[in-house]
Amino acid sequence: MYRGWLRSSSVAFLATAFLVAFAVLAGGCANRPLVATPGPTAYTGPATTSPGGSTPGSTSPAPAPTTAVGPYRPNTHGQIMVIVYHNIGPQEGRWERTPAGFRSDLQALYDRGYRPVNLGDLVAGRINVPKGYSPVVITFDDGTAGQFRYVTGPDGKTEIDPDSAMGVMLAFHRDHPDWPLRATFFINGDPFQQPGWQEKLKFIVENGMEIGNHTLNHVYLNKVSASETVEQVGKEQALIDTAVPGYNATTLALPFGAYPAYPDAVRDGTYNGVHYHIRAMVLVGAGPIPAPFSPQFDPERIPRIQAVDASLGIKYTLPFWLDYFDRHPEARFVSNGTTGN
Ligand SMILES: [Zn+2]
Repeated sequence: MYRGWLRSSSVAFLATAFLVAFAVLAGGCANRPLVATPGPTAYTGPATTSPGGSTPGSTSPAPAPTTAVGPYRPNTHGQIMVIVYHNIGPQEGRWERTPAGFRSDLQALYDRGYRPVNLGDLVAGRINVPKGYSPVVITFDDGTAGQFRYVTGPDGKTEIDPDSAMGVMLAFHRDHPDWPLRATFFINGDPFQQPGWQEKLKFIVENGMEIGNHTLNHVYLNKVSASETVEQVGKEQALIDTAVPGYNATTLALPFGAYPAYPDAVRDGTYNGVHYHIRAMVLVGAGPIPAPFSPQFDPERIPRIQAVDASLGIKYTLPFWLDYFDRHPEARFVSNGTTGN
């Protein structure tokens, strides 16, 4: 189903790897033990080209979004990484990234000329990154405390935990002003597992990030009725609306990566007078997506790349794809500087 956008033989090889990985990783969101990925173990050919020294240095001044020219030749037919994190916490693991690990991911993306966009914007064709840079989407599933936590600071005031994902992103944005605050948070019925969640949802939206629907109770949408589907999506939208009145979550992460039995009930519905309209559904594994303007792009089956530490050795996760696009920069989507490209 993804072969249409694969052009070179090395990329065709990757299609096989991708499909294998997809089957392994698509479970998603459950704290299941790590499954070793069978299949190809190495690329068959040498690296072709590399961005070399042309990547922007982390100390270079922030380019103005409308005039900067990045290090890559525009290619609006290339592929885009949509990355997924689960918890941010003390242990590197299949479903957890440490704050230091998350920070290093942001730095790795920044140094390679990626810039974040919200998923809803990407799907709507609004790819607002400077010319020569590549869009990347950062998503978070399950609304864990480690993604956005309040703590009591040294002065006794409530502050955002600098080691939660939000704290890491705020600091990174402060140090790299040309890395905007963009991310998509897919939440359930207990957002961020802490009081004050309404304020957090407001903060996300007011700072340019996105709230996505992950159903109220993290249900298997392939196993519930149409009416229960409407209830699960609609009640979550209602919960979001209590925090950010009028905000419509247009993207939905499928719990466990399970495609719904009643996709129509996910797309549009009304529950207790609350209407929702979902334009994009995301899966869990495991490769990049074709450009959203491409006929191969399916907004209702968007695969995502798991961000895990390289030391875990899990194939087809973020370290693998970073390396892949270093070796194949011609495969990257690169902005031509026009929103919408
Ligand atoms: Zn989940």
